[in-house]
Amino acid sequence: MRRILVLGGTREARDLAVRLEEDPSVTVISSLAGRVREPALPVGEVRIGGFGGVEGLADWLSVNAIDAVVDATHPYAARITANAALACARLRVPLLVLRRAGWEAATGDRWHEVADLAAAARLVAALGERVFLTIGRQGVDAFADCSGWFLIRAIDPPEVVAPSRSQLLLERGPFSVEDEVALMREHRIDVLVTKNSGGMLTSAKLEAARRLRIPVVLVARPPIPSGVLSVSSLDAAVRWALAPELP
Ligand code: NAP
Repeated sequence: MRRILVLGGTREARDLAVRLEEDPSVTVISSLAGRVREPALPVGEVRIGGFGGVEGLADWLSVNAIDAVVDATHPYAARITANAALACARLRVPLLVLRRAGWEAATGDRWHEVADLAAAARLVAALGERVFLTIGRQGVDAFADCSGWFLIRAIDPPEVVAPSRSQLLLERGPFSVEDEVALMREHRIDVLVTKNSGGMLTSAKLEAARRLRIPVVLVARPPIPSGVLSVSSLDAAVRWALAPELP
């Protein structure tokens, strides 16, 4: 049996678990950080919670006799991706990053790409007063000192300091373009802030912003650690994980 650890917390990771579980010669263990209160659970074996840094992850991989790791975490989950790269390199366990493609600007978009959340916070004031903040609950504190009004959408409430003038909307995608347009109109949004998460689950807000001619502040993705193999399609990840010989 080939034992594969899928670092998850994403739709791709759940889809990957389904595909790998179909192969009787594979055991899949999916790992979640345990951040959200009611996570969407992958099929098969699941473990929840941090490993304890690089050391903890390396120990866990050894004890659980893992043959390969697919890091299918969210593109902005940079720490676990860095930890996986270091732990796998140390143990010579094959590692693949499955990272969905980012969104690309289309005609009519008014996108402003910035390096990080701090840069996004500096820019929003110049673009508008009523901000739709859709970066998840982590990192909301980067906007704590902003003077504008914020509609903050997240799955669970932020545990950090939020901007003083704000309203919290607890919702999980997918969202429709019509609903996003209506939401932005209702709250008279004049600037949208988002990570470049990619995928279909939360892309409707970008189409809505395009229709309403609202500027978008897009926080750039952190890079994948150098030397780590990455793919953007589920099929490619399945082929890699099921190849007769792992690299
Ligand atoms: P992160 O900053 O890269 O990781 C912080 C710590 O959380 C890691 O050092 C690790 O703790 C633990 N961790 C993260 N992902 C884990 C996993 N899949 N299994 C076990 N431990 C994990 O990660 P994050 O941005 O907080 O994201 C946490 C989870 O939420 C990830 O699974 C990610 O796919 C998902 N998610 C993140 C975002 C986002 O915008 N960042 C969006 C949607 C979903 P130890 O060092 O103790 O091992």
